[in-house]
Amino acid sequence: MNFETGYSMLIDGALATGDAQIEVINPANGQIFATAPDCSPEQLDIAVAAARRAFRTWRAVPIGERHACLRKAGDILEANAEQLARLFTREQGRPTDGALSEIGIAVAWLRAYAAMIPPTHVIDNGDGQRVETSYVPLGAVCAISPWNFPVNLSIWKIAPALAAGNTIVLKPSPFTPLCMLKIGELLKDVFPAGVLNIISGGDALGPLMTAHPGFAKISFTGSTATGRRVMESAAKDLKRLTLELGGNDAAIVMPDVDLDDVAQKIFFGAFFNSAQICVATKRLYVHDSIYDGLRDRLAAIAQTVKLGDGSEQGTNLGPMQNRRQFERVSALIEDARDAGLTLVEGPTGPDTGGYFIPVTIIDNPPEDSAVVQEEAFGPVLPMMRFHDLDEVIDRANASEYGLAGAVWSKDIDQAVAVARRLETGTVWINQNLVLRPDTPFAGHKQSGIGVENGMDGMLEYMVPQSIYVPL
Ligand code: NAD
Repeated sequence: MNFETGYSMLIDGALATGDAQIEVINPANGQIFATAPDCSPEQLDIAVAAARRAFRTWRAVPIGERHACLRKAGDILEANAEQLARLFTREQGRPTDGALSEIGIAVAWLRAYAAMIPPTHVIDNGDGQRVETSYVPLGAVCAISPWNFPVNLSIWKIAPALAAGNTIVLKPSPFTPLCMLKIGELLKDVFPAGVLNIISGGDALGPLMTAHPGFAKISFTGSTATGRRVMESAAKDLKRLTLELGGNDAAIVMPDVDLDDVAQKIFFGAFFNSAQICVATKRLYVHDSIYDGLRDRLAAIAQTVKLGDGSEQGTNLGPMQNRRQFERVSALIEDARDAGLTLVEGPTGPDTGGYFIPVTIIDNPPEDSAVVQEEAFGPVLPMMRFHDLDEVIDRANASEYGLAGAVWSKDIDQAVAVARRLETGTVWINQNLVLRPDTPFAGHKQSGIGVENGMDGMLEYMVPQSIYVPL
């Protein structure tokens, strides 16, 4: 298969091009390097009709056979990982090692859901009555994913939805459609026609999908602002909904840490993927007694970063994925500069027309500054001093978001006690960015509704059915 050109949608088991195309830009140089189909409303109708038709038979396929299809999909992705990773770097910007790890994670998720079987509960089996509750699939699922982890966050929907017996129409972000379109082509014959549909298009396509009456459920990952619009749209016909939204994650660094040991890990958790991660550390609270030491270490690491085109050997961090995000993050940094805050900056990127932003650490900004309060989603990290544990937990929780957080301390019992007081769906202790397919991932507050991953994630694509049998 040629990964360099010829990007088609997968609709009802066949490859489909569009009458119109959207342009795809390489963020390392700002140049258009490919086009992808712009799905028409008629093609969307065909995809939804195909998904609904395929649902009738796919839901009845024994789960072991559905699992086998997912395993096969995982094997095919694994066999094509290097070519997918190269394409990933061109459309997303992340250096190729990180791109390869994304494909590896997608494979792991497919394999994990290829072993998950939803439970059946026998509630009563006594005198005169057998009552049993099992879980049944919902129907055709509308799946919408963002540009920061375009493969993983799509597979996180495809794997549980299909394992549970649903069918799916997935739309990747218009900024990063190519890998998922190639994955659709790779998996064309793995699932029966209509079970897996992958479409692409511009800004108009998402709202058309969420308003489409043929879908039983929407699974959306993206910003909180868009999540609100998706929820409004779903309300019209009460579609089931899973929303994985934004985050402004706090990390709390206690005074007993080994600074040399934690600095590198904290840096990674804040800046990997050029900080375009929903669960990146976005607010770093450091105990006053170690603040200067950690700031100086992070500043020293920042100087070692090679910012550049991810396809070049030795690049550590790539560009912002798109111009809109580049402008947003640049404006936040300007705002901090205008406010007279102290900025620690890493090396600049190459002069190629790419969307490069140097690693930027903001030295102890006020709590109410924009760079602390807003989700930056770019390589700008505010680090703040704290003196008192109760006070810092309040500051960490004073956010509309509640996605994840981290506690760094040698005193594990105390760290766990702090973790329990954080209002977030995930908390890491002395680590970050670790997620597992068997463990629920759920946003608290305005970071989301519902769950991805684990059996809870699979049950989001199912509904309980209780059967009463007289004995
Ligand atoms: P976005 O909300 O702009 O777009 C996400 C997707 O929604 C894209 O495919 C887009 O085309 C589509 N879309 C846009 N408007 C729509 C509408 N009105 N109706 C339906 N679909 C629409 O988000 P983004 O900029 O691509 O991604 C960054 C955001 O995603 C950040 O806020 C980040 O924190 C969040 N995110 C969350 C998670 C999580 O699991 N919680 C994971 C990754 C990213």
